[in-house]
Amino acid sequence: MNLLTKILLWMFPVALPVMGFTWSYYQAQLDATAEQVGNISSLVSASGAQRLNDLLSLRISEFVLLGESINNCGAIDSASDFMLSARNALQRSQGFSALVIADKTGKVDLSLVAGVTRSQTVLPRVLENSWLFNAGHFNHIEALFKRWQDDLSGLQQQKNELFMQALSMERKGEVDSANYYKLQNRIFSLTSRIARPPVYIDYAGGREAMLMGLLFERDTFLFTQPLISCNGHLKGYVTAFLDRTQIDDILNDLHKSLADRGIKAADVVLVSTKPLRFESDYRYLNVATLQNFGQRLPQASMYSQQSDGFLASAPVADNQVLNKLMEKVSATAQNVSAAEYQDYINQFSSFSLLVFIADSGWREAGKQLLLEASVWLIVSMFLLFSLIYMLAKSIVAPVVRLKQSVDKVEAGDLSVQARVSSSDEIGQLASAFNRMTHTLQRSEEELIRLAREDALTGLMNRRALIEEAIKERHRAQRLTTTIAIAMIDLDRFKDVNDRHGHAAGDWVLKEFTRIMLGMLRKTDLFSRIGGEEFVLLLPDTDLSTAHRLLETLLSSLRQSRIELEDGAVVHLTFSAGVVIWSENCGFDEMLHWADDKLYQAKLGGRNKVVS
Ligand code: GH3
Ligand code: MG
Ligand code: MG
Repeated sequence: MNLLTKILLWMFPVALPVMGFTWSYYQAQLDATAEQVGNISSLVSASGAQRLNDLLSLRISEFVLLGESINNCGAIDSASDFMLSARNALQRSQGFSALVIADKTGKVDLSLVAGVTRSQTVLPRVLENSWLFNAGHFNHIEALFKRWQDDLSGLQQQKNELFMQALSMERKGEVDSANYYKLQNRIFSLTSRIARPPVYIDYAGGREAMLMGLLFERDTFLFTQPLISCNGHLKGYVTAFLDRTQIDDILNDLHKSLADRGIKAADVVLVSTKPLRFESDYRYLNVATLQNFGQRLPQASMYSQQSDGFLASAPVADNQVLNKLMEKVSATAQNVSAAEYQDYINQFSSFSLLVFIADSGWREAGKQLLLEASVWLIVSMFLLFSLIYMLAKSIVAPVVRLKQSVDKVEAGDLSVQARVSSSDEIGQLASAFNRMTHTLQRSEEELIRLAREDALTGLMNRRALIEEAIKERHRAQRLTTTIAIAMIDLDRFKDVNDRHGHAAGDWVLKEFTRIMLGMLRKTDLFSRIGGEEFVLLLPDTDLSTAHRLLETLLSSLRQSRIELEDGAVVHLTFSAGVVIWSENCGFDEMLHWADDKLYQAKLGGRNKVVS
């Protein structure tokens, strides 16, 4: 595996945590969104229920006024007057769509339906079935009234007693006391309870709405109250149908507020809970999905995996809520015990506002987020990899070049130069490499020089002589010239050593070399092949010329005075054998011949040249 692949592979452990981070970021984001969605569902259901309850509370107050305006006993005698007052009441009402007046047996006497613009169109409606309520409902209503009637004398008595107490307190001058204030409140509350029977609120089923031919198709809240004659007898019952569009407006509004928060897959539904029944439009919820949330509707938001969503509910007009509503109307809060009133309240159905937020709506957004994060991850990883690839290449390429240079050096090419392309560590490495090859080159040159040179005299040694001789021979063959070879041996040199010491002998050898070189041509090759044995190679020279030259050299040497350190003077002579390099002979062979001639010179008494 090469270096570049290795570096890129090392990158993978970096990519893994980045990918892990993205995934956990997505999960955390999803969890946070889930929590937020849950909170939103609770919030919307609570605030929605509050708005519905406010609406109902307002309507109860309005209904009480409405009943009073119809029940104006002094003014209304004839049926036509009754019709007129009922019509006026419905026309002036803000929140009711229909009005039904029944006699004390529950049989419908008069029914009116309001158009969209209530103030202009209020029409009588002839009911085919003259019984608006079914028997069960009507029994409830009757019982409620009976109970109120039964309580009346007791209440009156209670009120009188309280009144007397109040009078005595007034006499005592305790009108500013807290007790007096409480007393007045109880009297006021009793007065309103005595003045009118309680309002019965229920949800009108489809049957009633259909009977009335209401403009909206849905069920709605229905408010009923007995009509009492001036002498306290039951005349009948007045019932008003709540304008359903007001409920739908609130539900639509809540739906829109969810959509504004980006939650599109959601249901805002009104349900009656005894028994469970959907009272408004729904898309994602149904009875089966609701059951996944358990027996009771969750008040705080709850998540169900089977239902794939969050559900939150808040009570609308349930016992507790109605209790509060009734308090407002009948001012029973301080006087009547909760238990006493509970009986009355329990007869109503309970309603709940459900807010269900389906997963699909907000999880899609989460997936979108993951997709975006993944795209950015891929882009950034791609950029990172590209950068690292380029970085790795910029590191690896000079290393590869350097390795190629090293290969060349290994193969013996010391002239190779690595390219220095930067001043960083890699550039410095290339420079160091270049310095190293330069040093090696110089050392090699030095070694070559040392291998060819005679250390004492600086002349060519035997090995160099052989190499040069071969070259000269080639030249001579090309130019068809002759080469003369002279073998020179100093005479009686042992005596010099013996007399003056070995060091002096060395000195003499150097002086001899200097003297000889001073007289030779540049093209002549002078070499030391042994202790005091020298070979002179004379290119382009015939035998007689060579002989003469050697004679000249010898006579010059004879006249030379070689002075030693201690002042002693040495006179040197040599014996030489000269030959011409013959066509078909090797150098060694020629040296041998020259040596023979030298031997003859020695034999002949030394200090002479033999050719
Ligand atoms: P001849 O050649 O005339 O027969 O007598 P010679 O004394 O020169 O005898 P030979 O050539 O046999 O001996 C060579 C002597 O040269 C032996 C040795 O003492 C001396 N010699 C050889 N090489 C060196 C050297 O490098 N330095 C010194 N100082 N003396 C050397
Ligand atoms: Mg010798
Ligand atoms: Mg000698």
